[in-house]
Amino acid sequence: MRSTACAIAVCAALMQTQTQTPAPAAPTAPEDPIKTMVARLDLEKYKATIKGLTQFGDRRQGTARNRAALDWIEAQLKSYGCPTERLTYTYTPRVRGGRGAGTAAAGTNPPAGQRGTPPSTTAQGGRGRGGDPTAGSGGSRIRGIRRRAGVNNDPNAQPDEKLRALNSEPTPAEPGPRQNVYCTKVGTTRPDEMYIIGAHMDGIGWGEAANDDGSGTALVMELARIFSSPDIQTERSIRFALWNNEESGTEGAGAYVAQRRDLQGKEEPAGSGKYPEPKWLGMIQHDMMLFDHGMPLADGTLPKEQRPEADVNIEFARTSKFAAEAQALAWLLHAANEKYATDYPAAVGPHMTNTDSGRFQDVVAAVSLRENERGAQIGAGWDPQWHQPTDLFTTYSDKDFRLGLNAAQTTLGAVAQLTGATLIKR
Ligand SMILES: [Zn+2]
Repeated sequence: MRSTACAIAVCAALMQTQTQTPAPAAPTAPEDPIKTMVARLDLEKYKATIKGLTQFGDRRQGTARNRAALDWIEAQLKSYGCPTERLTYTYTPRVRGGRGAGTAAAGTNPPAGQRGTPPSTTAQGGRGRGGDPTAGSGGSRIRGIRRRAGVNNDPNAQPDEKLRALNSEPTPAEPGPRQNVYCTKVGTTRPDEMYIIGAHMDGIGWGEAANDDGSGTALVMELARIFSSPDIQTERSIRFALWNNEESGTEGAGAYVAQRRDLQGKEEPAGSGKYPEPKWLGMIQHDMMLFDHGMPLADGTLPKEQRPEADVNIEFARTSKFAAEAQALAWLLHAANEKYATDYPAAVGPHMTNTDSGRFQDVVAAVSLRENERGAQIGAGWDPQWHQPTDLFTTYSDKDFRLGLNAAQTTLGAVAQLTGATLIKR
């Protein structure tokens, strides 16, 4: 019953007699601006960016295809209006067991303190910590059925001749220069503080490194695109970083920490209001975002479909110096997932390992987001494409890509809160 001013007076009188309280003004809750920002993430755009990365094959470190991918990523970031920089370092291949770079050893050897005990490669065997067959990397505990996991180094395992040719240049055996690329959104009131959002742009295995880690790289690029929109302001700064040399042992992220940790919060030049390296408030890594089909089946195969209860695994390192701060950051991301992610939930775990955020974990709160826990699940063979020729764009369904998109919604929502993001009315 809606009518004229006269009727309103009648209604008011009626209300008065019925309740003896004045009618409250209708609440007009303002639309959450972060919801608007998150809604700018788009499955097709996310997929297109992953597809763009796969044109460079497995992007193995030290090769022309790796450098071409870096150029392409930088061009995209620039086109989004996000000013880019590169960080150059020298990569020295580690030699173990007489084998140099480009071998399985170089691809899987962990740097000391960064990587845990590799899991058993059989369903029943295994010699983890202290001979414990259930011990996985990062202090995790492996349960249930596991399957063989490793790095493919056999070119002929790639049946696509064109892709095999694209991936054929080996990584050099000699030390040489390598680069990371990053771009930065500068904060308005706290340009001297920032969050670092990362993924690794290199890959291995003679496929397209679509999931590992095209999916994380595209996520970081999509966040750079959205936060660079002229109608979004943040109080604090955000750096979008694509690391190189993750697969050889997280050397790209390691070089960044080594070169830049002492520059944090320094105004340069003095009085300019410019901070080339704002103080680090947190580091959020994204590595393998698509595939959560559950535990391997008894015959060693994986279910064909994304499991409906798939989730985004947010991990911190319980043993790190900043464990308490990292855990708080993980739960903040978890809450952002509940608020902003459209399809898949998040889970928090304490065993972050084998990824670039490990290089930050004793300097600042550092977490990683993944399709599965790295130690107990990916390490036990839950992702059959991991470092394999089958890590191709065409391997994944929209249900898989959507898990990556939900991780993007999670990080975007959290970082928007953390950096005080607002929408400017234009
Ligand atoms: Zn990876």
